[in-house]
Order: sequence, then structure tokens, then C-alpha cells
Amino acid sequence: MKLIFCPKCQDVVNLLTVLRRCRCTSSWGAYHDDVRAYYGGEAIPIGFENPSLIQAIRDRPKTNWGSNFEAFVVPFDCPTFRQVGEHGQDPWACPCPKKKKEGD
Ligand SMILES: [Zn+2]
Repeated sequence: MKLIFCPKCQDVVNLLTVLRRCRCTSSWGAYHDDVRAYYGGEAIPIGFENPSLIQAIRDRPKTNWGSNFEAFVVPFDCPTFRQVGEHGQDPWACPCPKKKKEGD
């Protein structure tokens, strides 16, 4: 699971296929597909290890502390989670002009 952390407002945002921003709007990001995502502004990319999160949810106790799960800061150079510039454009978007449909 890919998320962004904003160092300005401390918001953590779970990314979706539509662009999402933190509360202060200084950080943003989105998924391109099921694997690749991008982020911009002040965003620090982070990830949750899905299997360990799911296991911790399954093991949720009635009382006391629940189990830990794995989370990590994504490295600067990551082929599936890329930083983008000011305009926040999807780095994997096709640069080809869209074909006109018949009847347009
Ligand atoms: Zn923010």
C-alpha cells in the first residue's frame, strides 16, 4: 500500500487512482495503475507491507496493544513510486494525442 506523508501538516494520505492531496495541499500523489504511483510537492513516500497489516488486523485483540505491522520510507530512486515536478503529471501517462472517436 503506497501512501504519502506531508512534513508540513503531518497528514498521511492513502493514494488512489485520482490525485489526492494532504490537508495543507503541499503534498500530493496518485496511483497510475495497481503497482505504479507518483508523488509531488513536499510529499515523503511511504509504504505499508500489506500482508503484515492484514495479519495485524486479523490478530486485533479485544484489549491491550495490537500487533505491529511493517511500514517503510520509500527510497529516492524507486521504479514504481516516482517523484514528479510542479505540475504533478503522471510520469507513465501516454504522451500520444487521444484518437478521435467516430462521430466526434
Ligand atoms: Zn500537508
